[in-house]
Amino acid sequence: MRVGFVGLGTMGGAMAANVARAGFEVTAWNRTPGRAAALADLGVRLASSPAEVGTASDLIVTVVSDTPDVEAVLFGAAGVASGAGSGTLVVDMSTISPSATRDFAARLATQGVGMLDAPVSGGSEGAKKGTLSIFVGGEAANLDRARPVLAAMGTTITHVGPIGSGQAVKAVNQVILAGTYLGVAEGIVLAIKAGLDVEQIVAALSGGAAQSWVLTNRSGRMLENDYPLGFKVALHRKDLGIALELARETGTALPISALCEQIEAGLIGKGHGDDDMSAVARAIRELSGLPG
Ligand code: NAP
Repeated sequence: MRVGFVGLGTMGGAMAANVARAGFEVTAWNRTPGRAAALADLGVRLASSPAEVGTASDLIVTVVSDTPDVEAVLFGAAGVASGAGSGTLVVDMSTISPSATRDFAARLATQGVGMLDAPVSGGSEGAKKGTLSIFVGGEAANLDRARPVLAAMGTTITHVGPIGSGQAVKAVNQVILAGTYLGVAEGIVLAIKAGLDVEQIVAALSGGAAQSWVLTNRSGRMLENDYPLGFKVALHRKDLGIALELARETGTALPISALCEQIEAGLIGKGHGDDDMSAVARAIRELSGLPG
């Protein structure tokens, strides 16, 4: 199967590399030339537009930032839709709005192009190692076609319902992460202020009920007050916007997510939008009289 990639950022670059390593013929495009340059060593062919990726591929993966960006690479000038033939399949692995996803799928269907939404969890580490969790919305027959490609990127592939459902599940994931990051940040700052040996207590807590991926993988950054990527604060705030919109549509109260979204807005205002999301600890540190 010929696989296309549109978006070679932190996630897309690593995911395209794994698909190429699995033996698929890969054609890729990125808006800013020169990103993920190492892909050429894996035999990935670079295209000059998303439309060219669409023409050269049976299955096209999109991994860009936000809802308007997916719309631009699919339907903009020289977008995927202007090059993809009937019978091809678009698999959007960005994190975007569930309702916009349904709209994009309907527009693609008018020209015989199928669509799955397949957002991921597992961070930049999971993208590099090929161990992502993938939440898939769409028709089962389309997932059957995409599964060998998805299996090159992730280890847990779950069909969660019709088109748009993958994005709704991802919103749930991001809501849970909001609480987890804030909770770990508060715990680590309390440990610092109480004069505890933070590395020792992280090891001790990791054997108990407070264990989490965030505690294991991000508490060190909160202790050092240094937040290399990772997952950008600005992208998590974008994801909480999607979750809060879904909450409004469904009559759900999300007080922790709303608080986290505002803390992240403050971080972005101070120029920390490109920090890793663990930088929410900056806000808790500052409130507690530590350098933020
Ligand atoms: P990133 O490193 O900032 O990369 C974003 C990519 O999107 C770049 O290739 C960028 O191109 C492209 N892009 C953005 N707007 C575009 C537009 N209007 N037209 C064309 N290309 C555009 O972000 P990332 O971390 O890879 O995240 C990508 C998606 O995965 C996001 O939806 C994010 O929420 C999701 N995600 C990320 C993580 C993570 O840990 N990083 C985890 C799970 C899910 P340029 O190079 O030209 O800027």
